[in-house]
Amino acid sequence: MTINLPNLPYALNALEPHISQETLEYHYGKHHQAYVTNLNKLLPESEFHSASLDELVLKSRGAIYNNAAQVWNHTFYWNSLSPKGGNEPTGKLADMIVRDFASFAAFKEEFTRAAASQFGSGWAFLSQDEHNKLVISQEANAGNPLLKHHHPLLTCDVWEHAYYIDYRNARPKYIESFWQLVNWNFAASNLR
Ligand code: MN
Repeated sequence: MTINLPNLPYALNALEPHISQETLEYHYGKHHQAYVTNLNKLLPESEFHSASLDELVLKSRGAIYNNAAQVWNHTFYWNSLSPKGGNEPTGKLADMIVRDFASFAAFKEEFTRAAASQFGSGWAFLSQDEHNKLVISQEANAGNPLLKHHHPLLTCDVWEHAYYIDYRNARPKYIESFWQLVNWNFAASNLR
């Protein structure tokens, strides 16, 4: 099957001033697109030519895994952001955050630390573990919590290409901007 680049859920300039149109032109238009293009070159020759994207993330290895997981992660990341995002979650997700991290502030601090301290390229994820407890994880390179049998709710891309145009080497400043954009409705809609 052919893997398509999904449409962005907002305009290229919609996340300004936190994340610029130029960043999205490169991050979505070049990087995300390249993972899709690479994957579609690799799949026809492989045993995975009819696999879904989720199956590719769970079952493939090597170059196919790296490109498939990066397609999955980026689509999830775009949906984790919204021009109407920010603030704090409400309802069941807010209650679960207090249950599992003591407070929203403590959760935010731990997630920020995970995103800031991921060495090199990778991701910070909020997921539900096998007992549906909320957990924060660092995923290197194209890592994905699905491989730990965790259920992802929200992610922050901390590859340098996510912030270098806007913030140069200042990853913490980019993470501050991430909090202004978090789409809590998306995270809550992913709860199982
Ligand atoms: Mn990225």
